[in-house]
Amino acid sequence: MSEQKYVYYFGDGEAEGAAEMKNLLGGKGANLAEMTNLGVPVPPGFTISTEVCTYYYKHGDTYPDGLEAEVEEALRKVEDVMGKEFGDPEDPLLFSVRSGARTSMPGMMDTVLNLGLNNETVEGLAKRANGRFAWDSYRRFVSMFGDVVLGIRPESKDDEDPFEVELDKIKDKYAVDQDVDLSVEALTELVERYKEIIEDKTGEPFPEEPEKQLWMSIGAVFGSWNNERAIAYRELNNIPDDWGTAVNVQTMVFGNLGKGSATGVAFTRDPATGENKFYGEYLPNAQGEDVVAGIRTPHPINKEDETGDGPTSLATEMPEQYKELMEIQKKLETHYKNMQDLEFTIQDGKLWMLQTRNGKRTAIAAIRMAAEMVEEGLIDKETALLRVEDAEYLNQLLRPVFNADEKQKALDEGKKLAEGLPAGPGAASGRVVFNAPDAVEWKKRGEQVILVRLETSPEDIRGMDAAEGILTARGGMTSHAALVARQMGKTCIVGCGELEISYKKRQMTVPGGKVITEGDWISIDGTMGDVIEGGLETQPSEVVQVLIDGTMKPEDSKDFHIFHEFMEWADDVRKLGIRTNADQPDQATAAVAFGAEGIGLTRTEHMFFGGNRIDAVREMILADDTEGREKALEKLLPMQRDDFKGIFEAMESRPVTIRTLDPPLHEFLPHSDEEIEDLAGKLNVSEEKIRANMEALHEMNPMLGHRGCRLGITYPEITRMQVRAIMEAACKVKKEGGDPHPEIMIPLVGNAEELRLQEKEAREVAEMVIEETGVQVDYLVGTMIEIPRAALTADEIAENAEFFSFGTNDLTQTTLGISRDDAGRFLPEYVERKIYKKDPFAAIDQTGVGKLMEMGVELGRKTRSDLKVGICGEHGGEPASVEFCHGIGLNYVSCSPFRVPIARLAAAQAVLKEQGKTA
Ligand code: PEP
Ligand code: MG
Repeated sequence: MSEQKYVYYFGDGEAEGAAEMKNLLGGKGANLAEMTNLGVPVPPGFTISTEVCTYYYKHGDTYPDGLEAEVEEALRKVEDVMGKEFGDPEDPLLFSVRSGARTSMPGMMDTVLNLGLNNETVEGLAKRANGRFAWDSYRRFVSMFGDVVLGIRPESKDDEDPFEVELDKIKDKYAVDQDVDLSVEALTELVERYKEIIEDKTGEPFPEEPEKQLWMSIGAVFGSWNNERAIAYRELNNIPDDWGTAVNVQTMVFGNLGKGSATGVAFTRDPATGENKFYGEYLPNAQGEDVVAGIRTPHPINKEDETGDGPTSLATEMPEQYKELMEIQKKLETHYKNMQDLEFTIQDGKLWMLQTRNGKRTAIAAIRMAAEMVEEGLIDKETALLRVEDAEYLNQLLRPVFNADEKQKALDEGKKLAEGLPAGPGAASGRVVFNAPDAVEWKKRGEQVILVRLETSPEDIRGMDAAEGILTARGGMTSHAALVARQMGKTCIVGCGELEISYKKRQMTVPGGKVITEGDWISIDGTMGDVIEGGLETQPSEVVQVLIDGTMKPEDSKDFHIFHEFMEWADDVRKLGIRTNADQPDQATAAVAFGAEGIGLTRTEHMFFGGNRIDAVREMILADDTEGREKALEKLLPMQRDDFKGIFEAMESRPVTIRTLDPPLHEFLPHSDEEIEDLAGKLNVSEEKIRANMEALHEMNPMLGHRGCRLGITYPEITRMQVRAIMEAACKVKKEGGDPHPEIMIPLVGNAEELRLQEKEAREVAEMVIEETGVQVDYLVGTMIEIPRAALTADEIAENAEFFSFGTNDLTQTTLGISRDDAGRFLPEYVERKIYKKDPFAAIDQTGVGKLMEMGVELGRKTRSDLKVGICGEHGGEPASVEFCHGIGLNYVSCSPFRVPIARLAAAQAVLKEQGKTA
């Protein structure tokens, strides 16, 4: 026996593992052990640890010494408990072999079922159960082994599965419609044909020895950690490649032994809405894969979910087992204090639990469950906050729905094409595509698509990610399409059995005979399950309607109520302030409704394009001297003052950071000949002169050119006009009874002297305005830190700055030396190749840019201990970046209005994570 332990046995009320051993045993293995220890009936088996997977990859696909002996020992234990032997021709013990990583990766890796069957053991099984069942299990095993272990599967997207083709041929030959109608004779023939395919494709006969089957399957499952779809899933979900998977080898129990058998999946609460209601689906006389694969549409578990002429529920069909299942689900949820996703099988009347894990859920369900579990005393508020795994999920609450009237109109006009199960709430419209690679292609060229499939499989994951919505003909609420769509936050309808889909013709026929072809527009309502012809417009979610549009009363929306309560808990915990980037009063108002506590950035240049202001701006830029510029600035002053007044009013007593002019001046110049002609007329100068001035303003590299504070240094009158507009607006608002708090921010400073000069101008004008108006308004002058030199010399810069705000857009651009405007050409490949793990313009590059930020904060506060520091680059609303900002001691983050709720939650989660709390 080796020193290190690799194999963990579980069975008959006793397990070597436990729930907290997820890193070692994977989620599934740890939970099988935990359930066993809780006394829940679990088929016995053993887990090979994730360390073996890591070893396997590090050592050229080989296993550590001692593994074989440990597997042998565990196998003998299982045989003892079950009173059966692996490979016994009289009464064979059969196994399932499944993957199980630390976090669930539904369907991404491989599984082999019915392992241990061969030409001899199948006869033993036939004697114990029945011939048809035994041979059906055998043919499933051979095809699964062929696919998963030997890699025999369709080669291109239009190819058919070779095993499916044989199955269809046999069905034709024996003139049967359904798989279940195949006779023993037909199945025996099918197994032989399957084996011929295997020998033909691999050059080796199908392995009859159970031990060999087992080791080959273990290898295949470890190998599947690095299959294309698992890699894609890890990329999308930020799961490290080096975690590895465990392998669970577990006694098979059968849900397809006839009348007293069944299999199902269930959630202890509704994963779509969060409602506290046990929810599940099952199929009588079936194997687990049948429910998840969506090949047969499942039956409900609860009596109340039965529909008039639909299938009967488990509660009706098997009341005793239903009662036991109810007790177990309660026990498991109470034990784990979290919504559980369960798999069970009933074999000859005996209920077995095959899996429990924390269930995937939509954002609103996550929030609702968390809120209600707080009320039920199951968890505390802090745990509840961490239950929304990624603060980004809140986006789902802000996602659009259809306009009810427009949708009704479409329904009245008979545009409803079909109805399916509402698996992923929300509204989506797009053009129909029928396979995942097309969804990816079309999306790339800017199309909005709905992916329509008979059912989805893990191969489709990239296509699902590319689509606005997903529609499948088969499957239930727990099918692959439903699970994955919900997790991705996609609108999704499944089980729309009325659709006749032809992949080859790239079309679907809907009830009534209408044909929808690839490229046609459809709309899907993932909350109701309606499929509608044409591209319906979408409209804001309830939360947005209550908070922003005012078109819904708070008391009419349960979503809003829960969202609001949840946000309040976040506010109680977080330490970071949350501000917004807003240039207009309406944006400011929206952001306040979402919880913004101030403005972290107003970009004044956006105002220069409104109305006929651009003419005055151009006049200023093209002026030959200070006098000419001042004359043009005079015209701009009242307009800017009005803009600022509107913002101060919207923000009431909250701080408002306004930045002086930043972009290179050429951005404001005319482009076309007509515009130049028009401007020449307005300014009463020749076109030649304008062209000559434009020529003079041309820069080779404008983003590193005459912009930011460099403009204010060379043309101080611009800064002076803007500060005057800010302060006059503030004094006016204050005089009218308001309480404005302006913060004047100088951009693109890289040298303390630049700030000293600009601060002097700003203060001079500000004091002048205060004196002129006789109104005392408190104001701050500070700077952006967005040039590496500013971070490196932050101690010097802080001499003249009352606050810093990290402009991480420019700081990323200048630190990485990557143009923020041109990065799109190559950065996606960089991210794909993991040169940067995430797009550094979306999530702070913590090792590089982050280091400069840390240094900036430290040096700045060395000079000025009460220095207020924030961030106003796009990263200010990205959860991982928010956490980073919390960690380095910023005072606030500032982000776009719709990201404010995300930032609030991320800021609270940062505190809790820092305290070592977990969900
Ligand atoms: C920044 O650079 O991060 C910033 C907020 O300014 P802008 O995006 O306007 O350059
Ligand atoms: Mg900038």
